Amino acid sequence: MPFKIIASQCTSCSACEPLCPNVAIWEKAGNFVIKPNKCTECIGDFHEPQCVAVCPVENTCVIDTSVPRSQASA
Ligand code: SF4
Ligand code: SF4
Repeated sequence: MPFKIIASQCTSCSACEPLCPNVAIWEKAGNFVIKPNKCTECIGDFHEPQCVAVCPVENTCVIDTSVPRSQASA
């Protein structure tokens, strides 16, 4: 399952965007979002999701349980 950004909590600090190994995070009109079909949960690249690790706001980058992992592709 990919990660998603809780928009109401995101401060648009942009810290997560350059750290994603799959360029899954993008900014649109000041809001940062994760493309679910690009997020691999950082598996194979890092031991922990980089967006979660760097985000200064707790519980803002979270697992999106509505999208199955099988849809994710690097
Ligand atoms: S979990 Fe990893 S691959 Fe997914 S959006 Fe965050 S940094 Fe990118
Ligand atoms: S690091 Fe967190 S607060 Fe900053 S842009 Fe990414 S999701 Fe938003």
